[in-house]
Amino acid sequence: MSSEESMCSICNVRESSGFSYGVLCCGACKMFFRRALFVKNIDTCRQKGECIKKCRYCRFQKCIQAGMSYTPTENLLELKNNDSLSAFIFNLAHQDELRKYQLMNCRYDGDPTVAEIAEHNTPLNFTKKPDDFPMNLGEWIFITGLTSLNYLKKFNHVNMLNASDRHFLLKYSFFDMSIFTDSMRACEKGEGVITFPDGTEVIRAEVPGLEQKFLNGIRCRLAARVNELKVTKEEFLLLSAVFFCNPGLPGISESGRGILSTYQKIYTSALLQYCLLTYQQTGPTRFTDLLSVLQVVTKTRQDISYLFILNSIRGPPSALKKIFIFR
Ligand SMILES: [Zn+2]
Ligand SMILES: [Zn+2]
Repeated sequence: MSSEESMCSICNVRESSGFSYGVLCCGACKMFFRRALFVKNIDTCRQKGECIKKCRYCRFQKCIQAGMSYTPTENLLELKNNDSLSAFIFNLAHQDELRKYQLMNCRYDGDPTVAEIAEHNTPLNFTKKPDDFPMNLGEWIFITGLTSLNYLKKFNHVNMLNASDRHFLLKYSFFDMSIFTDSMRACEKGEGVITFPDGTEVIRAEVPGLEQKFLNGIRCRLAARVNELKVTKEEFLLLSAVFFCNPGLPGISESGRGILSTYQKIYTSALLQYCLLTYQQTGPTRFTDLLSVLQVVTKTRQDISYLFILNSIRGPPSALKKIFIFR
């Protein structure tokens, strides 16, 4: 290890003591992160995130940006451990806030493939976009895909996999994650149709030669289901863990499948425990209803793929980014 590699990637002052929560860091930063999750004593920064001597808020943001990620290792339901559950949700909420911030405010230079993104288990490097940066449909699709990839990449189950398994998992999950976030946003805005943050429609209302009913299915079906169930932010976060830790995806090795099933069990038990705590007797029904959202995600993705194939038959896709090219 060179001296730079052995430094803590959070404080950059002390020697790292190895990987903790998925990131190379020192003992003090490791303890800091754990306490922050369990005590949740993170006030906002007095210098709006620009303080010289890092405050607790800024230090915690640094942990989140570096991809520090906590997963309860035990079966939460058996232990009835609510502290672990709320620490897990708190961690995911901050990762999701960062995803939203990057979606709205950042751009990405370059055009990597999913395999290239999967090669390293470090977060993607986004840069702040200038106010006059032209956002068109292609840019929105690209940044939505990349911020979804970046969010998924930080899960511990993704970091446990080898590069090849990580590639397959990300490749078959990130688009579903993207449409799930689009639908949650539509719901939060009280809209029935999926749109990007600036109001651009994800799928056009009319495509020559295609039935309106088919297009409306893509535009509205998932958002309608999320709205009907009134999926909360916490439920969305737990579902994002359960759904995108699928051991049944093609291409994943035997050992990779083992890792994914172990984690999927933990995430599923976290969701069930959340439902039981929040909804008491109707908890089990709520749990089943929430899991059923995955079918709607899958159906929507299949319809979009069909639309995409139709469009590419009609003419070669212009400047399609590499993360969307499936071979
Ligand atoms: Zn440190
Ligand atoms: Zn600060």
